[in-house]
Amino acid sequence: MSDQIAKITVLPGDYIGPEIMKAGLAVLKTVSEDEFAYQIDERPFGGAGIDETGDPLPEATLASAKASDAVLLAAIGGPKWDRAIKRPEKGLLEIRQKLNLFANIRPTSISRAMQKYSPIKQVEPVDFVIVRELTSGIYFGQPREIDDYRAIDTMHYTVDEIRRVAQVAFEMAEKRRQHVTMVDKANVLATSNLWRRVVEDVSADYPDVTYDTSYVDAAAMKIISAPEQFDVILTENMFGDILSDESAEITGSLGTIPSMSRGTTGPALYEPIHGSAPDIAGKGIANPLSMINSVAMMLRHSFDRPDLADEIAKGVDAVIESGIVTPDLGGQATTDQVTSAIINQICERR
Ligand code: ATP
Ligand code: MG
Repeated sequence: MSDQIAKITVLPGDYIGPEIMKAGLAVLKTVSEDEFAYQIDERPFGGAGIDETGDPLPEATLASAKASDAVLLAAIGGPKWDRAIKRPEKGLLEIRQKLNLFANIRPTSISRAMQKYSPIKQVEPVDFVIVRELTSGIYFGQPREIDDYRAIDTMHYTVDEIRRVAQVAFEMAEKRRQHVTMVDKANVLATSNLWRRVVEDVSADYPDVTYDTSYVDAAAMKIISAPEQFDVILTENMFGDILSDESAEITGSLGTIPSMSRGTTGPALYEPIHGSAPDIAGKGIANPLSMINSVAMMLRHSFDRPDLADEIAKGVDAVIESGIVTPDLGGQATTDQVTSAIINQICERR
């Protein structure tokens, strides 16, 4: 942190974005009272950025993000900007690039309170994170070509790209249950063999963390059959893309899941994994848990306040347990009712 008061850039975005951001900020205010000093700088981004300045990532928004200690983003995009010259989603790619956010971290957690919503049977609570390389691999490798008879994509990785994301995974594991599983396809791919070499090497710097490997096909099965075995999954861009969505599905609702994208230095960005849900915007029924959990993740990882993050997590679990949930989880509560219930839980426990 650059000084005593934490600087947070807030990007409410589009459709349900502002609705759930309001909920997240209300919970942040509650746990912060007498505990955590912060100031927020709210900026337009995505469709809202296009409406105000013609650009999904306005210059002033980027400058604010760069000067911040953390960025909170709700959700962007939607049909309103389908014909825009620059799409809202372009802003997301740009901000990731400009802040050099090469590691994307998605937790999959099925607490006792959430178990009844999961489509899979589990005996033990599930709690793992996927650390996905976000800025290289087959989505960016050259050559990329297509003609009438063939097409080429290239999976490309350098030692440095692998090392820096591996370090993120091992650091994460140190603060968790001290285990990393590297997911690859080393029986087939050259890049996977380089990943094994580099990750093996990085693992030597973290003697308290155990390390194993799994082929991606086997890992995809284990996420369904034995997800409680994982702590930190480290993987490359495309495998991470697929496994993250599979993992989201086993929790029961994408309306609860936060994420973090970070680099080596500079602010990290926290956001729900879902989109702007235009179909339910304005109805007051968006599930705010994804945003509230994003706030908790920010407190834990950018501001080293696991105590405040745990307070939020306990409040969230108590409210889920009591059945005050939005329609996506089969309940009838509104965004505001869920948020107030969580705030009450937090206040009661203080
Ligand atoms: P993306 O914008 O990431 O490409 P998408 O447009 O396919 O994703 P989302 O906007 O994430 O999808 O919405 C998918 C479905 O999930 C929609 O029916 C939406 O209403 C629902 N949904 C997403 N987020 C929430 C939430 N926080 N609460 C309730 N329902 C949600
Ligand atoms: Mg969407």
